[in-house]
Amino acid sequence: MLDAIRTRGPVSRVELAVLTGLTNQTVSNVVRKLLDVGLVTESGHAPSNGGKRRTLLSPRPDGAYALGVHLDPDAAVIVLVDLAGSVITGRRVRLTTPSDPTDVVDRVARAALRLAERAAVDPARLLGLGIAAPGPIDGSTGAVVSPPNLPGWGRVPLIDMFAKATGMPVALDNDATAAAIGERWIGGEARAGSFLFVYLGTGIGAGIVLNNTVLHGDSGNAGEFAHTPVEPGDLVCPCGGTDCLGPYVSPAAIIDDLVRRHGHAAADRVGLVLTPDALHRDWKSLRRAARSGDADAGDVVRRAARRVGQAARGAASLLDVSRIVLGGEALHGIEPIMLAEIDTAVNRTSVARVIRPIAVEQSVIGDTVGAVGAASLVLHGNYAPGWRMLTDSVG
Ligand SMILES: [Zn+2]
Repeated sequence: MLDAIRTRGPVSRVELAVLTGLTNQTVSNVVRKLLDVGLVTESGHAPSNGGKRRTLLSPRPDGAYALGVHLDPDAAVIVLVDLAGSVITGRRVRLTTPSDPTDVVDRVARAALRLAERAAVDPARLLGLGIAAPGPIDGSTGAVVSPPNLPGWGRVPLIDMFAKATGMPVALDNDATAAAIGERWIGGEARAGSFLFVYLGTGIGAGIVLNNTVLHGDSGNAGEFAHTPVEPGDLVCPCGGTDCLGPYVSPAAIIDDLVRRHGHAAADRVGLVLTPDALHRDWKSLRRAARSGDADAGDVVRRAARRVGQAARGAASLLDVSRIVLGGEALHGIEPIMLAEIDTAVNRTSVARVIRPIAVEQSVIGDTVGAVGAASLVLHGNYAPGWRMLTDSVG
């Protein structure tokens, strides 16, 4: 019911009965409870059509809050999100690579608790903390399992560790799936139905929402997009594959590709430093150059985008999604190139033209989609029907 009010509101009780298939009496009872606990509010009246004017219901943004943490190798982004999905406050905790899991959990948990404290939200309305982590994860125990993007991390029981450190219920998912859930939670009608969410961060991943339900798979790792076979080259994936998408589309790989194809003159022109600790800065420079029309920078971004498009076309055919959504911090500035190449790849076939044109769109959340997605894991787990949450709580 809350999901219906959230995604379709403001709505009347009569409309809710139609939307949910419940009786007027049941709707009335549940709405009464939602009003009592402060999750929804009466927000005016529908225009009269002759009879009694219907009272409209809207969600109360301050009805509930969740913390979200996006763990990346060099930083953790932490946000505090309200029930409407708005970011109340956030911060970034710098991490070093390789990092020690105990130290990371300790620092991030303390920063998250401080964030909630400073925002002065009612602790009773703070539902918990969600974590978006690089995969793979063990869906049965709430651990990450030797993620290639977190070197030195073996099996790390993140749910247990964060639950102990914060005393809060904790939810965990891989970053791409968390981002997809965030997009579904906040996108409303624009993200109803089915979509493939392609997430570009340190690595590439995908989250899958099919008929409004997130796909987790048997091990909790659906959407390991990085291992989708594409046109092979000479790069080897950490999994041993020689035709995996992942190695060709990471920021580091695209930077290497620029030097290899267009030489050091191009790297100098773009302003690349090319030392390992300059990866972030270099990627920013390359994106800026591609965006402002540098032919060589545009070329290597486009080559990577074409491989993403190849993989996306396969996934879209398999899943029958009519929408592909792109997000992640690493995309900032090069979205138009990525969107155009993926659009070409998925919409050029006759299947696409005849039965299912695919909309290729940018995330409605933007750069913080990983962290907001992490917070959404908690909100979804509590309030959306049929959503499974990997969660645990102490005390
Ligand atoms: Zn692979």
